[in-house]
Amino acid sequence: MAEQLEPMPEDWQRALAIVAHPDDLEYGCAAAVATWTDAGREVTYLVVTRGEAGIDTLEPAKAGPVREREERASAAVVGVTGVEFLDHADGVIEYGTALRRDLAAAIRRHRPELVITLNPDDTWGGTYWNTPDHRAVGRAVLDAAGDAGNRWIFPDTDAEPWNGVRWVAVAGSSEPTHAVDVTDGLERGVQSLVEHRTYIEALTDEAPEAYARSLIEGFAEQAAERFGGRPAITFRLFPR
Ligand SMILES: [Zn+2]
Repeated sequence: MAEQLEPMPEDWQRALAIVAHPDDLEYGCAAAVATWTDAGREVTYLVVTRGEAGIDTLEPAKAGPVREREERASAAVVGVTGVEFLDHADGVIEYGTALRRDLAAAIRRHRPELVITLNPDDTWGGTYWNTPDHRAVGRAVLDAAGDAGNRWIFPDTDAEPWNGVRWVAVAGSSEPTHAVDVTDGLERGVQSLVEHRTYIEALTDEAPEAYARSLIEGFAEQAAERFGGRPAITFRLFPR
């Protein structure tokens, strides 16, 4: 049997999930979010762009509001009502102090114990090249978890420093260390991706329901091999 994954920590109350695009959290992570909100934990989403460059057949001015609406509907499926958007430009997010400052300010405002983001590595599993937005945001999130706690870095944000982030969990990593049993959250994880209907219809000829189900159930089954046979969503956990 493959090396087993550790269960994700459960002794926390507030999480902030920070990703580049509407839909980034719905490719698996949302099933874990459903499990957490069932247990009474608070999860807030912070999306760095509105995903306005994500639909080839829809110009950005029209795509942005559609994708924002789809992301709010996706979040609601898994028990998340707090969804915020930063207005960085989709496709050309720059890693740098401006981004780190925006993320540190959000972490100070929300005071999460757990911060979640998406794979910032160069590739997906060594096979597919990752996008520049995912690389920039994921790296900036990992950095901003520390920035948020240092009063001398970005001293002019509205909220007080917050040095209470205990872990950053990276979803979609090819080197996961931890997992969440999503037996109860899996179906809502599927439905949360289905909510990105306009996006998926432009992406593939497959029906959104079938597309979402095969992907999310596939991820959960693959992870089960390393988590005692239970359907799971994996994370690479960075303690702080
Ligand atoms: Zn994305």
